[in-house]
Amino acid sequence: MIQKQFKKANIDLTDEQAQKLALMSDFLLEYNQKVNLTAIKTPQEIAEKHFVDSVLPITMVDIPEGARCADIGTGAGFPALPMMIYRPDLRFTLVDALQKRTVYLQEISSKLAISPEILHSRAEELGQDARYRGHYDMVTARAVSDLATLAEYCLPLLKKGGIFLAMRGSTKELTPHHEQVFEMLGGKLKQEKEYSLPCGDGRRLLIIEKVGETPKRYPRTAAQMKKAPL
Ligand code: SAM
Repeated sequence: MIQKQFKKANIDLTDEQAQKLALMSDFLLEYNQKVNLTAIKTPQEIAEKHFVDSVLPITMVDIPEGARCADIGTGAGFPALPMMIYRPDLRFTLVDALQKRTVYLQEISSKLAISPEILHSRAEELGQDARYRGHYDMVTARAVSDLATLAEYCLPLLKKGGIFLAMRGSTKELTPHHEQVFEMLGGKLKQEKEYSLPCGDGRRLLIIEKVGETPKRYPRTAAQMKKAPL
């Protein structure tokens, strides 16, 4: 069933990749009965709305072999875990502010025999930590926050030349103000792609490249961001 869903999006999965995703789907649905991780409740919808949705963006951009990647506000591991199953060469850091989610991520990673770095942390704290700031080739975020806040979370983490993939529902608008915010943070909108999942849901992918340095004062604290959004 999972391979069929991917085929509809023109993505070929190996048997091993499909087995790993099936294991992930079963474990997620079982775990979700005790800890709320997703509103999606059937294997078919998990395949369409979590798995295909997570993998499609990396079929649309060139990501170098062995790239260092971070997924901000990864929740139950989306999009990072399906991306890692599809591209095992990618070296991911999974970041979430909620500990119950990072505990789940440790368990599912061990079941899948994959070893991402898992951090129970806030994105804005990592962005001011020399171990993570300017460290990544790609940063992803799906359904985490408004675009300006997301840019402030994600752009500081990128190396120059790295890309930030902002994965959004198709109705979320990009404004000239957002483009100014990207520039203020050392980024530049490279491409905007609109497409539909095979189930018909619309999606919008923004690809923002890090072209300069992010000024040291960004990212600010959560309180400062809330008080004075960019
Ligand atoms: N990306 C996942 C997905 O698409 O299914 C989860 C989306 S969920 C709506 C948003 C997640 O972002 C939550 O797990 C929340 O804990 C996390 N989050 C929100 N703000 C964050 C921050 N500043 N730093 C780290 N994680 C954050």
